[in-house]
Amino acid sequence: MDMQISFLDRLFDSGLLIETGVEGLYGRSGEFEGVIAAFERLIDRVGGEDGAEAIRFPPGMNRAFFEKSGYMKSFPQLAGTVHSFCGCELDHMSLLKCMEEGNDWTGEQKATDIVLTPAACYPLYPTIAKRGNLPVSGGLYDLQSYCFRHEPSNDPARQQLFRMREYVCMGTEAKVTEFRQLWMDRGVKMMEDVGLSVEIDVANDPFFGRAGKLLANNQRDQNLKFELLIPVTSDVKKTACMSFNYHQDAFGAKWGLNLEDGAVAHTACVGFGLERIALALFAAHGLDTRLWPENVRKVLWG
Ligand code: ATP
Ligand code: ZN
Ligand code: MG
Repeated sequence: MDMQISFLDRLFDSGLLIETGVEGLYGRSGEFEGVIAAFERLIDRVGGEDGAEAIRFPPGMNRAFFEKSGYMKSFPQLAGTVHSFCGCELDHMSLLKCMEEGNDWTGEQKATDIVLTPAACYPLYPTIAKRGNLPVSGGLYDLQSYCFRHEPSNDPARQQLFRMREYVCMGTEAKVTEFRQLWMDRGVKMMEDVGLSVEIDVANDPFFGRAGKLLANNQRDQNLKFELLIPVTSDVKKTACMSFNYHQDAFGAKWGLNLEDGAVAHTACVGFGLERIALALFAAHGLDTRLWPENVRKVLWG
């Protein structure tokens, strides 16, 4: 039997994840959530002295900002838009008739002003740009959001709705690249402290289409993206549980993020895949947190 399927089945059997009938869309048990909460407290302890501004957006973002971000150029296959019924009573009658007859009723749904957030940092850039120039010392932000990506899979580590905790740094090139390196070092240490074996590797995003291949190669060649990999469902094909992204001044230029001295801000973000980290812990230490190694329990629960 496929390893991947059996880990997902064990997660269902133990009740840690709850089946919904849709691949990559799961409920979570209290125990599963407790692991995520504990790991987030660890993140708070490690990053807490840095003075990041905490901001929480809901899992939907302004469609106009989403359009401007260029997401549909790079990842049209992953996006999720929110549509609603916007008709009159007559339209409602034909909608119900259509549903009753088992026909496709969704075509009449109209796009709303909301798009599902694809990465926790997407709503941040226009928000900060609106405030005006950044101080020359830059900005540091602490984000967490459910994110949507249309990538149905039977790999429990590839979900369609999952949480990303992020730190985003804006400022000079030197500042943001130092920030990224700091979190790569911290990330490795944190994972080792909870008994996970880690590896850092250069990576690229799954840019769509033939033109996307060039973007992906460029991203790799320039070391713009690194991933922290941990075995979750396979020891051979490890899972990216964190990513470390340097955007150069691309987002700064796109959104008009400027430093007080007139320079365009460089940006970088580091993301923790919270479900993936929890799953890595369950894969390494077993499905019952009470039986996890004492030192791991101590780091997570004191
Ligand atoms: P992958 O290469 O596995 O698709 P990614 O490069 O798309 O990952 P990022 O866009 O860098 O991932 O997102 C930041 C983090 O969010 C990832 O390191 C991962 O931990 C988590 N993540 C990304 N996609 C998913 C998903 N479908 N399900 C659960 N976690 C995810
Ligand atoms: Zn980001
Ligand atoms: Mg991906």
